[in-house]
Amino acid sequence: MNLQDYKGVFVFVQQVDGKVTNVSYELIGKAKELAADLGTEVTAVLLGHQVDGLCKPLAEYGADRIIKIDDKLLETYMTEPYAYCMAETIKKYKPEAVLVGATAIGRDVGPRISARVHTGLTADCTGLAVDPESGNLQMTRPAFGGNIMATIICPEHRPQMATVRPGVMKKLPREEGRTCPVEEFVPADLDQHINVEILEVVKTAAAKMDIQDAKILVSGGRGMCSAENFHLLQELADVLGGTVSCSRAAVDAGWAEKDMQVGQTGKTVRPNLYIACGISGAIQHLAGMEDSDVIVAINKDETAPIFEVADYGIVGDALQIVPLLTEALKRE
Ligand code: FAD
Repeated sequence: MNLQDYKGVFVFVQQVDGKVTNVSYELIGKAKELAADLGTEVTAVLLGHQVDGLCKPLAEYGADRIIKIDDKLLETYMTEPYAYCMAETIKKYKPEAVLVGATAIGRDVGPRISARVHTGLTADCTGLAVDPESGNLQMTRPAFGGNIMATIICPEHRPQMATVRPGVMKKLPREEGRTCPVEEFVPADLDQHINVEILEVVKTAAAKMDIQDAKILVSGGRGMCSAENFHLLQELADVLGGTVSCSRAAVDAGWAEKDMQVGQTGKTVRPNLYIACGISGAIQHLAGMEDSDVIVAINKDETAPIFEVADYGIVGDALQIVPLLTEALKRE
């Protein structure tokens, strides 16, 4: 393999219901930084059906080129055709790096793409940089339950592939009116790669806001004491226009859904305001929220580690303080 034949940083664009997901913009932001160090450009690879309208925001968030793979067969995400299209795109265009969001879709398709193009994949990265000497990507991810950070390189194969945690990288400010070239490509024999028939797409009942998109999070832990008490958090979130999230202890207790969990094995969030109620502040929880703009902690133990990262701390019983806060805000 001649590594010099491979140029450019590619981002796999994830779109759901006709909207580009935030993680795709975050990856374009990071890819721009890497591309500047590598002296190359960022290509967004957009798969789907009737996705023309998505090219504009991709260019405005920093893509230098878009490869659009638009086909009715790609309307709904399916592992096989998506992996095939990405692998064929890589074989044709030979990028030196490919970034994929570590979402449910990204975790599904990422390894399949890398296996097809005979390269490695560093999963669930939280850091990416270019080694100035070798030009290799340094892909960093937590290992051994978050006790060490492992930096992984892929020196002998191209492309270098990583899935990257949503919420960790920053998207660039939107540059209204920015445009970039759009190239169309549909790999041959795509119809030979459809091995599943979609009968129906069933959406989850509550169209809750993803905690990674929320500007305000009211988060509950074991200190909320029961599932019923999570209603107190919902009431506060409603008054603030926010969303409820939680610690792993709350998920383990069956008080909250797994997709609400913040932390190392949950989601990384960076809201404007994070209110931690009855959460101790274990390292694995902090890993998912310590970059929030403003952190408020309510905990009855004044020595709880959450107070070390909090901008404002209230020592007391969350079951009493949360309703008082809600009432006070309602009066505002
Ligand atoms: P606790 O640690 O039990 O804390 C409860 C807090 O509530 C205490 O500080 C207590 O003083 C306070 N409290 C009790 N009653 C009240 C009250 N009435 N009013 C106010 N305060 C009160 N955790 C995560 O959150 N996210 C993760 O992604 C995650 N990943 C993990 C991955 C690994 C590999 C491991 C080993 C652990 C992980 N954990 C994760 C678990 C983590 O270590 C902690 O166990 C967990 O975060 C604790 O949740 P908690 O703060 O809600 O509960």
